[in-house]
Amino acid sequence: MFFNEDFETLPREALRALQLKRLKAMVARVQESVPFYQEALKKAGVNADSINSLEDLARLPFTYKQDMRDSYPYRMFAVPMEEIVRIHASSGTTGKPTVVGYTKKDIENWSELMARSFVAAGVHRGDIIHNAYGYGLFTGGLGAHYGAERLGASVIPMSGGNTKKQIMIMQDFGSTVLTCTPSYSLFMAEAAKEEGIDFRELKLKVGIFGAEPWSEEMRADIEGKLNLSAVDIYGLSEIMGPGVAIECHQAKKGLHIWEDHFIPEIINPETGAVLGEGEEGELVITTITKEGIPLIRYRTRDITSLTYEPCVCGRTHARIARMSGRSDDMLIIRGVNVFPSQIESILMSVEGVEPHYLLIVDRKENLDTLEVQVEVGEHLFSDEIKHLQALSQRIEKQIKEMLGVTSRVRLVEPKSIARSEGKAKRVIDNRKKA
Ligand SMILES: [Zn+2]
Repeated sequence: MFFNEDFETLPREALRALQLKRLKAMVARVQESVPFYQEALKKAGVNADSINSLEDLARLPFTYKQDMRDSYPYRMFAVPMEEIVRIHASSGTTGKPTVVGYTKKDIENWSELMARSFVAAGVHRGDIIHNAYGYGLFTGGLGAHYGAERLGASVIPMSGGNTKKQIMIMQDFGSTVLTCTPSYSLFMAEAAKEEGIDFRELKLKVGIFGAEPWSEEMRADIEGKLNLSAVDIYGLSEIMGPGVAIECHQAKKGLHIWEDHFIPEIINPETGAVLGEGEEGELVITTITKEGIPLIRYRTRDITSLTYEPCVCGRTHARIARMSGRSDDMLIIRGVNVFPSQIESILMSVEGVEPHYLLIVDRKENLDTLEVQVEVGEHLFSDEIKHLQALSQRIEKQIKEMLGVTSRVRLVEPKSIARSEGKAKRVIDNRKKA
């Protein structure tokens, strides 16, 4: 099943020809209308006429999140305000947010790509989509909402929070699809259990989870506890919002990125050099149809790899591997690069360990230290102390063997780690305070 079969299964040669045509047109637009790009393109010595093949993309300048912040709020917009129908913003951890504007056409394209994403995940008309992504400046809620309507499914605009009510609505309204962050889905399942409700008995059959990196092991845990097919979705407000890429339910092996609207590249984040198929590096995306705020080679900071291998689902669009993390989230512990998701993978493979953990990084006597706090099940926690000690030592050993870092594992009581209704907080880095 496809939402737009012609485009989703376009032969690669035709797809590349379309990308080149759209890339040239986009560059022509921004060199006319966005002073930032006028200058950046001039500096790089390129313009729309000098782009003759997709390989020329590598000659174009990068765009950084900082460039968007410097253009706050509207100076990156490529159209006059009269054509902007929607404004979103992503929360910055510090200072001003990043602002994005959409034309009517941008909203139509976004809705279509989100509808395609729903179908790829195994959602149909007739499904009842319980949308627990936040509505507001964040793109998650409205992005999924418009896509669901475009598909013709029923959408419940729940937004985040108020977990008891979420569970009641899901039960009473017969929701068949759940959209939220992976960590919130587990939080809901746990809260339901406390109310004596078994999530596995709800009508949910598909879960579309994103907005934070999660591991394959976490997927298995969610699928078991929620009794649904869990699919990974990717997006970011700078590029569009949710629905930039999604796993197909047939393969669940990499996320198809909609290449008739975006050109993905993988680069070495240090040197900026373009890497080959299968090599891991930073994902860079060029938007080729966006009108409101087109971006050339946007540095996403997300670490992944790219494959053009044909997929069993029949879609011809490239796939990006599940994100191993954001380069911003990467921890450097005594010189070793570690992503929280790598530790999550190890924890989730241990029997009796719950999917709630916190990494605390510190510096003691000039040496980095890593403490891993992880919850264990009730039955384990009431177990003899020597069993708990043996378990934490086993996890410490696995982390050392697989990631090469020394850690101290502390098994903690069930429900002692703070839960989040949005993105989960996994890391406290005390070194940054110093
Ligand atoms: Zn596929």
